[in-house]
Amino acid sequence: MSSATLVIQTAFLGDVVLTTPLFSALAADHGPVDVVTTPSAAPLIETHPAVRKVIPYDKRSSDRGWAGLRNLARRLRTERYERAYLPHRSLRTAALGVLAGIPTRIGFSGAWSFLYTEARPKPALGHESDRLLALANKPPGVYPPQLWSTPTDEQATAGLIDEAFVALAPGSIWGSKRWPYYPELAARLAERVAVAVVGGPDDVELGDQIVQAVRPSGRQAVNGCGRLTLRQSASLIGRAALLVTNDSAPLHLATAMGTPIVALFGPTVTEFGFGPLRPGDLALGIDELPCRPCSSHGPPQCPLGHHRCMGELTVEAVIAAIEELGALRRRG
Ligand code: SF4
Repeated sequence: MSSATLVIQTAFLGDVVLTTPLFSALAADHGPVDVVTTPSAAPLIETHPAVRKVIPYDKRSSDRGWAGLRNLARRLRTERYERAYLPHRSLRTAALGVLAGIPTRIGFSGAWSFLYTEARPKPALGHESDRLLALANKPPGVYPPQLWSTPTDEQATAGLIDEAFVALAPGSIWGSKRWPYYPELAARLAERVAVAVVGGPDDVELGDQIVQAVRPSGRQAVNGCGRLTLRQSASLIGRAALLVTNDSAPLHLATAMGTPIVALFGPTVTEFGFGPLRPGDLALGIDELPCRPCSSHGPPQCPLGHHRCMGELTVEAVIAAIEELGALRRRG
């Protein structure tokens, strides 16, 4: 019997980043873990020292459906894992642990607990990274989220911008979570520093608008959206003086890379457990708005049509938060 440990985490990208403390905790107890995750998240965690091997699972495409699940389970069986940790409460995750013949399966209490050999309560409060860490019976904060870029990633980003810069992450797959004033903010920031935009292929246009807004200042502005790999984006964020971001995956990339954060929350709130984690990082939101929060993820569009939660969050308020953070002052 192998003593190897498997973690199955196929949730959103941000969730995978926030599972890295669990990897560290399990590696400390059992040795480096193998991880089943999405193809997009796989390169991000394959450099983590607590991870031995990453097994991509494309549940939405090439591995979709029952046949894909069975094929993966067959491959996992050959590894003869001793234990599996299942932080994502989904039937697919629970079923994969069973089909792979893993004798010890530990997950959070919920609808699929009967498929685990041990169900542990998920803390209702606290940051999601600490709640996931509870699956390894570790207290909050003992392992932080961390990511590692490679020298090749660093080389790819080093040539993009050669002065102090602020990173901006204007995208989100949930439309109502997008703050609309990034170009105006970028123009103001460009009075003092350069600007780099991070995001995926869907954010290219947003990135171009920001670069255009900076152009009159003569400062450097880089649109990395859709052009950098995820790990290169993490590397670029890691080199930034700070990141201004919506409630989206780049927030967690910055947490894991140790970059100061100003996070802008609209339809969601930090109490959900996905806000900045480190002391000093800031989250802004219109606290007095009675409709807020309006959903756990953020709806595609404001259901009330006015989108005041983001519209009333001003550029001035974000600039004030950046000043409070002090990250630009530290760069001189
Ligand atoms: S309903 Fe309120 S919280 Fe939800 S998107 Fe609209 S303004 Fe924001």
